[in-house]
Amino acid sequence: MSSREWVYEKFSAFYKDPSYKFPPPTAFSQREYAFLLFKERAMVRHKGFASPTALRSTLRGRIPSDVYHSCAYYENPEAEMDKKGWQGADLVFDIDADHIPTSCGKIHDEWKCTNPDCKVSGGMDGRDITPEVCPACGGVKFEVKTWACEECIDTTRGETRKLLDMLQNDFGFAEHELHTYFSGHRGYHIHVENQAVQSLDTMARKEIVDYVCGIGLELFDKKRKKKPKGKKSKTSSRAFSLGDYGWNRRLKIGMSKFIAESTKDDLREIGISKRGVDVLYKSKDAVLHRCIEEERWDTVKGVGFETWMRIAEHVKNREISQIDTVVTTDVHRLIRANGTLHGKTGLLKIEFPVKQLDTFDPFEEAVAFKKGTAQIVVSNAPQFSLRGETFGPYKNQTVTVSTAAAVLLILKGRAKLAEEQH
Ligand SMILES: [Zn+2]
Ligand SMILES: [Zn+2]
Repeated sequence: MSSREWVYEKFSAFYKDPSYKFPPPTAFSQREYAFLLFKERAMVRHKGFASPTALRSTLRGRIPSDVYHSCAYYENPEAEMDKKGWQGADLVFDIDADHIPTSCGKIHDEWKCTNPDCKVSGGMDGRDITPEVCPACGGVKFEVKTWACEECIDTTRGETRKLLDMLQNDFGFAEHELHTYFSGHRGYHIHVENQAVQSLDTMARKEIVDYVCGIGLELFDKKRKKKPKGKKSKTSSRAFSLGDYGWNRRLKIGMSKFIAESTKDDLREIGISKRGVDVLYKSKDAVLHRCIEEERWDTVKGVGFETWMRIAEHVKNREISQIDTVVTTDVHRLIRANGTLHGKTGLLKIEFPVKQLDTFDPFEEAVAFKKGTAQIVVSNAPQFSLRGETFGPYKNQTVTVSTAAAVLLILKGRAKLAEEQH
C-alpha cells in the first residue's frame, strides 16, 4: 500500500464512521459546496444539498481531501456562477501563516528546485515565497515544504486577537455574531454572520479590509495642520488630535504602551533622532501623562512632530491585523467547511468560542485520528506535539508514531510508510 493510499483509507474511515456529524453552516441549503476528491485530485464544484444527511452521504461516497462551502447564500447554488442568484454573503477573514513573516519559517520552511539535475534548496521566512528563478539553474519550478509550529500558531493567534478586538469594539459586532475557527493548517478563520454585512459588495468589503489593515489611515488631523496666511507654515505637533474611539483610540493606547515599555534601542530603531531618544527616555512620565493622556502633544521640548509621526507609524504597523485581504473582498469565496479534514494535515477545521482564543489548543482539539499507530520513515521534521504527545525532531529515521502524527508527516511530504520503503 502506498503512503497516500493509507492516508486515503484513514480519511475514508473518518467520513464513513456512523458517529461522524457534519456541523452544517447557517442557511445550509443556500450554500454552494465543493470537494477536492482525494483519489482523483479533482475539484467538484457547484453542488447544493437539501439536508446535511444528503451531504454526509456524498462525503462517504466520494471521500474528499478537502471540503468547502460558499460564504455566499444563493437562490440556486447548483447553477452557473452568474445564474446562481446571489443573495448575500457572510463577512469572512482568513489569517494564515502563509502570508505572515515568522522567524520560525526560516527553520522549518524550505523550497527545493524541482530540476532533477539541480535540487538546490533554500529557507523561507514563513511566507509562501520562493525565489522567482532558481539561483543555480534558472529553473522556475519549486517544491515547497512548510510546517505549522507553535510559533506560527502563536503569531496567527495574535493577529486574530487584534481582528476580533476591532470587530467587537470598533465595528460593534456582538460575540454571538462572530464565529472563530482553527483552519486545520496554519491559522484561523473568522466568519461574521450578521444581517448588516450580508449585502455588502466587494467595494464595501474592501473598506473594511482597509480599516483592519490601516490602509489610508491619517495619523494626524490635516485640517489643523493648515496655518493662517502670513504665518510660518511649520507643522506643529498640535496637529495631532486623537479621540477615544476607532483607530484614534488604538493609536493612543498603543503609543502609551510602546513608550512605557520601550528601551533606547527600540526608539532608535524606529528612526527617532538621538536627541529625541534622550529626551523621550528621560521624561517618559511627562510624555505619557501630558502629551498622550492630556493630548498636549507639544509640551515636552525636544519631542516634536517628526517624533510623534514615527511613533504613530510604528504603532499602527503593530496594531493592524495581517489578514489575507483577497478572502474578505471576494463575495463568492469558497471557504473550508467546519468539521472537515484538511488535506495538507489531516487536522480538522474546528470552531471554538471567541472567548477561548487564548486557551484553545489546535494541536489538541483539532486532532481527528485518535486511534492506532503506524511505522513510518521520516526524512526530516521539526519537533511537534499532538494531543499532548511530543514527536521528533526526526532526521532520516524509522519510527512508530500515532496515526494522527503519521498522517500529518505523510501529507506534509516528510515521511513515508515503512512498508512502502521495502
Ligand atoms: Zn535549480
Ligand atoms: Zn513556525
